[in-house]
Amino acid sequence: MQFKLTSTKLSAIVALFLVLFDNISFFKHVTEIYEVSMSNLGFLVSLGLILTAVIMVLVTLLSSRYTLKPLLIAFVLIASVTNYFMNTYNVILDDTMIQNAIETNVNESLDLINLKLLGYLFFLGIIPSLIIYRVPVSYGSFKEEIWAKIKSIAIALIIILVMLFAFNRFYTSFFRENKPLRYYTNPTFCLYSSGKYIFNTFYKKETTLKQIGLDAKRAEDGVRKLTIVVVGEAARANRFSLNGYERETNPLLKKEEIINFSNLYSCGTSTAISVPCMFSGLERKNYTDKEAKASENVIDVLKHSGASVLWRDNNSDSKGVALRVTYQDYRTVGNNTLCEDECRDEGMLVGLQEYVDAQKGDVMIVLHQMGNHGPAYYKRYPKAFEKFTPTCQTNQVEKCSAEEIGNAYDNAILYTDYFLSKTIDFLKQNDKNFQTAMIYMADHGESLGEKGLYLHGVPYFMAPDEQTHVGALMWFGEKSKARIDVQALSQKTNLAYSHDNLFHTILGVMGVQTALYDKTKDILTYQQK
Ligand SMILES: [Zn+2]
Repeated sequence: MQFKLTSTKLSAIVALFLVLFDNISFFKHVTEIYEVSMSNLGFLVSLGLILTAVIMVLVTLLSSRYTLKPLLIAFVLIASVTNYFMNTYNVILDDTMIQNAIETNVNESLDLINLKLLGYLFFLGIIPSLIIYRVPVSYGSFKEEIWAKIKSIAIALIIILVMLFAFNRFYTSFFRENKPLRYYTNPTFCLYSSGKYIFNTFYKKETTLKQIGLDAKRAEDGVRKLTIVVVGEAARANRFSLNGYERETNPLLKKEEIINFSNLYSCGTSTAISVPCMFSGLERKNYTDKEAKASENVIDVLKHSGASVLWRDNNSDSKGVALRVTYQDYRTVGNNTLCEDECRDEGMLVGLQEYVDAQKGDVMIVLHQMGNHGPAYYKRYPKAFEKFTPTCQTNQVEKCSAEEIGNAYDNAILYTDYFLSKTIDFLKQNDKNFQTAMIYMADHGESLGEKGLYLHGVPYFMAPDEQTHVGALMWFGEKSKARIDVQALSQKTNLAYSHDNLFHTILGVMGVQTALYDKTKDILTYQQK
């Protein structure tokens, strides 16, 4: 008789393979808390067995004779890629990360592909998939198949119970104190997150858009306002010399009359959360993606006040913020006239005067930067900005020294310094006709290898300062200074601000009157509680 595996055996082998080869990150984090020693060894092995049993139960419940192989193949493929990202960047694949991945455009994805990733995919994904595909499996009759399922779930549950009981000394505190460790189990957590994302995206009830600020009116002084809000990308505060960084990364802004906020924190650790949160009336502590998407935001309120609103985007997109205003994609060659290897942020300023000249009344422009988008920081600036060398010239940041990564990152900050000073120059040209202002805020920070972390996206409650403490500053034109007390404002630059303040600050800078406006939250008139 030909050699055949039972479906239970095949599932068990694949589950064990996943635990042994694709859970390096999980065990690395576990052994940071429970070091490998004789007294912990039994517990560590039991964790592996429990994880294997959990995957077994999952596979058994989700599969039938027709879907077992496709399911197992999907598991090993997903796990191999997840494994790469967790090992390399120390990231967690939660539902926000899944959302980021899906909302990311092709160019950004290409930025992430490299030989090492393909190696993981080939050895831990494709080869095991081929073996699973080729191996003959006997399922028996329908009755036998059901019986085998019941048996394998029972065995898995017994293993779990015995392990929990045998090592209960460890497990009582393990589950209570180390909840974040479950984020590193692979592919279970990634599958859970994908399920959560799909459910939230496709199955939640359609909500009607809630309009807000319908009472909004433009300022009574009758002077036209022109505000540019620059949304920065992955620019952390402590790499700005304006915040005391020992390197000169703000040589141009330094010459301007900048009001720099040194203590401002982001709403999220990813673009997909921070950008909608910044513009929404919700605050970080009660922010949900669902609620934000169900309601208008501050740029809608400006529109209700009669202002013209334009969003130019050289990042991925507006994350749902600019759905009801004029939106222009500046990552497209043709729209953006300054594209070399990639389209430059400065391109967003080209032709902006024509737009402003064509408007009547107040104007608000949002420029969403490419900024310091990682991991390929070296691509984010023209050659002329390569002041700090040597730089990391690959997207495999772990191959570079901390110095090379930092140099490339700082050069990208230097380019943002240039871009912001160009934006200020643009506003100066319009100072005769407008009260002008620029507000710059980065969406989140970035880890550059500190504590073994790279990029961003760590869940907020456990995110390091590097990912949440962001670059933020303002500039005002001469006419604005007649209305806004810049002197008083510059006394309050070290206070604790956050993205929560942006909603009211934009209304304050534009002088818009609405019942929604809370001047105690407007940075211009902020009152610390
Ligand atoms: Zn971002």
